[in-house]
Amino acid sequence: MTLRLRLTLWYALVLVFVLLAFGGVVYVALTYSLTAQIDHTLSRVANEIISAYRSPDSLPITLRALNITSNVYVQVWDDEEELVWQTTNLPLQDAAFDPASLLLEENVYATQELADTHLRVLTVPVMLQADGSVVARLQLASSLETIDLVRRMLLNVLIAAGLIATIMAAVIGYIAASSALRPIDQVTETVLQITRADDLSRRIPISAPRTSEDGRLIMAINETLERLEDLFHAQRRFLADVSHELRTPLTAIRGNVDLIGHTGEADAESLSAITDEVDRMTRLVGDLLLLAKAESGKIALAEEIVELDTLMLEIYRQAKILARAQVEVCIGQEDQARVKGDRDRLKQVVLNLVSNALDHTPNGGKVTLSLRCVEDWACLSIEDTGSGIPENELPHIFERFYRVDRSRQRKASGGVGLGLSIANWIVINHGGRIEVSSQPGEGSVFSIWLPRIEEDCGGNS
Ligand code: ADP
Repeated sequence: MTLRLRLTLWYALVLVFVLLAFGGVVYVALTYSLTAQIDHTLSRVANEIISAYRSPDSLPITLRALNITSNVYVQVWDDEEELVWQTTNLPLQDAAFDPASLLLEENVYATQELADTHLRVLTVPVMLQADGSVVARLQLASSLETIDLVRRMLLNVLIAAGLIATIMAAVIGYIAASSALRPIDQVTETVLQITRADDLSRRIPISAPRTSEDGRLIMAINETLERLEDLFHAQRRFLADVSHELRTPLTAIRGNVDLIGHTGEADAESLSAITDEVDRMTRLVGDLLLLAKAESGKIALAEEIVELDTLMLEIYRQAKILARAQVEVCIGQEDQARVKGDRDRLKQVVLNLVSNALDHTPNGGKVTLSLRCVEDWACLSIEDTGSGIPENELPHIFERFYRVDRSRQRKASGGVGLGLSIANWIVINHGGRIEVSSQPGEGSVFSIWLPRIEEDCGGNS
């Protein structure tokens, strides 16, 4: 069942319930008030008769013409249950209107069906003032024909009006639901078109106000499409990058193998080139595997206490060896800071940043490592006086396979643009972040911010 049909049914159902309740209340209230009016008339006439004939000596009650309302019928029964007198306007024989109540000694109202006439009957015992004994009983009746007619008419009107109102509500409800759901139809149609055309660059035009439900739905779908498009492009770029990065060393290996085949001897230069390229491929595959594991949440990071100052000293020593005295490596500020995390992974991050700094710093340049505490954070920074990174490239350097200068001849040991993505993932998963500031031609500063586990933070510098 469609949504609009369901909504219409709900409208109609609610209306039917409301009308039933309303109609029921009106019907019962009207019946009650009309019956009460008749009861009142009967009681008034009974009182008139009794006060006209209240004479202890007038037994049996003698009757004279009373000005009795034409639609009230009266019977007088003596204590022997014999009919003494009755009005002449009776549509009935000499039977009592309400035989059962004749035996009772109290006023009784009853509704009776006599000779196809619907009657409201009041039985009133007439007592002698002296001893309170019942000397006669009055039975007054009034036809309920008019009330029945009014009730029937009311019922017919209520049923007809209810039916018309329900049908109208259903039609209007259907039209309203259709017009309210029309934007959703349009959205569905556009999304289907996008799917059929396989074109994620298309967007649904926002015709409704942005705060309305349909406007928000369209915006949410457009955002999802944008995200999907980004992911799709990223996946395509990633595949192209991986293929490219794998093909380059393979081509180099193939060239060298061909050369060996031609010359018939494996010269040291070719073998070393092959080894370099195989190393490069191994690194690439290793990095890819690490990223894939990271993204699928399969890398479990150890949670040990890591003394960042000790870690920095270790890396400083390694960096000095890597720099081979062509670049000066030194230590700036050296606070003591401890963080919780995976020591090996953190070391991998810092080493990666240091090796990047060394790679991009020309001979005679300087790379400075420093560690400082800022409030609850430890900040380990690697500053170089190298080539720097253009401002427009900065937001992208943590993307996978992103290299600032793609055309630059890479060293065999150079990365493929995965190092910073891996470093960023590791630091983020330690609850920290990597910040970078750079001035092209002057150098860059990479800062690793990690949450400290201790309050006191001693400085050595
Ligand atoms: P790679 O493994 O190729 O070095 P990274 O992800 O580590 O890739 O770095 C991405 C890019 O950021 C590099 O291609 C490089 O151009 C740039 N970059 C990283 N560190 C520095 C730095 N200290 N100075 C200048 N450029 C840098």
